[in-house]
Amino acid sequence: MPAYDSLLASITTDAVSARDVFDPATGELIGRAPLLTSAEADAAVDRAADAQAAWAALGHEERSAVLHRAADAVEAQSEALAQILSREQGKPLNGPNARFEVGACVSWLRVTADTPTPTQVVVDDGSDYAELHYRPIGVVGAITPWNWPMMIAIWQIAPALRMGNTVVAKPSEYTLLSGLALIAVLNEALPSGVLIAAPGDGGIGAGLVANAAVGKIMFTGSTATGKKIIEASAGNVTRLTLELGGNDAGIVLPDVDPEAIAEQLFWGAFINTGQTCAALKRLYVHDDVYEAVCDALVEVASSMPMGIGLDEANVLGPLQNAMQFDVVDRLVEAARRSGARVLLGGDPKRDQPGHFYPATLIADIDPTNDLVVEEQFGPVLPIVRYTDLDEAITLANGLDVGLGASVWSADRDRARDVAARIEAGTVWINSHGGVHPMIPFGGVKQSGYGLEFGVDGLKAASVPQVING
Ligand code: NDP
Repeated sequence: MPAYDSLLASITTDAVSARDVFDPATGELIGRAPLLTSAEADAAVDRAADAQAAWAALGHEERSAVLHRAADAVEAQSEALAQILSREQGKPLNGPNARFEVGACVSWLRVTADTPTPTQVVVDDGSDYAELHYRPIGVVGAITPWNWPMMIAIWQIAPALRMGNTVVAKPSEYTLLSGLALIAVLNEALPSGVLIAAPGDGGIGAGLVANAAVGKIMFTGSTATGKKIIEASAGNVTRLTLELGGNDAGIVLPDVDPEAIAEQLFWGAFINTGQTCAALKRLYVHDDVYEAVCDALVEVASSMPMGIGLDEANVLGPLQNAMQFDVVDRLVEAARRSGARVLLGGDPKRDQPGHFYPATLIADIDPTNDLVVEEQFGPVLPIVRYTDLDEAITLANGLDVGLGASVWSADRDRARDVAARIEAGTVWINSHGGVHPMIPFGGVKQSGYGLEFGVDGLKAASVPQVING
């Protein structure tokens, strides 16, 4: 049996409590994913709690070795994982999409395994001596969205396991097979009970947050759900890392070469067909280069093939679900009705299967238009014209979210000065959205709190303990 078929068969079920999964590009049935009841999810937490002491007792070196073996397992099954991801999420195999995502899982596992422990001597002055250690929390609940269902899961699972916790992972109900397939492959290398999947809807996630045996929730998803989790965490004072929604701004200064930056701008906005937390979602361009940047973006965007993910030629895919298609459609209509200029796209073929929305660029849009101030989470970029840099910075900072942002300029020092004035967890210069397993990542304002990746990510997946004396 080909690797894809046998991996898919191992995670699908004909049980009654299950959900049919459809390909968002074709509408075809791909498989049937099992769903847990609340009682089964609680039992999963109990099993993870039972497995935790032995896992922690292995120590850093052995746990790191196990994480490398888990990375080997993902590498060995990478093509099957990429195909399941592509069929269920919709993202193409090629471009910064499914194969890229599975490759990132391998990198994050390996780098997290090799990151030095955060333990440090904080005072040693002859009279006082204190060390700061980072101990396991216990059971971590990992709750993920549907846009990068494997990579974001690994961002939570890898540091939590590395620090001696066990994990109960809840994939989004929209991408159950991707979550289950990844966890099945990781479990080829992990001891039993260390990582358990809890497939289900938001109720299963809420159950994890309410469960007193879950010491920390690592959550990536919408700000609305993040707020519910904050409220629910009060009951047990559960620790939280929250990576929530964003509406990242990019500011293009007048000294850029529009053609030279167009492709980077495009992928900053359209990576994963725009369904990315830290994608460029509103672009402010100086009047001097406005038309040239628009023209260069149209040229790049119109050359990018969109279609079924398994077709090797495509680099853009469908939206993952009808709900997201409707959000994008509504926001583009709001822009069009306001008199904004549609440079490209905006005309989905509604009589064809799949949730395809074409790459869309919208110019001369009012900065208060819904398409600018709401998160579109799809393949659409509004381009706002500005003349006064202070005004552009004020507009960039004008929303209640602050995940990422970018500044584009030929003058790095000038760009860094602008970056320092932007309220966002990360500001990229002449690129947008790139992440690295050793560079801390997190939001400000209503984009959440807590850092992921690198040493800071390990600290966040543990509890600090001072040994004084
Ligand atoms: P949601 O917030 O709807 O869902 C995220 C996860 O939370 C899903 O697994 C969901 O389950 C679960 N969930 C839903 N309700 C609860 C609850 N009450 N308690 C606990 N868990 C719950 O987000 P989406 O999946 O729709 O993802 C899109 C959003 O996520 C966008 O707004 C985007 O900006 C943001 N996002 C942020 C990222 C970041 O790093 N900051 C990265 C990726 C996305 P189910 O889906 O099964 O109902």
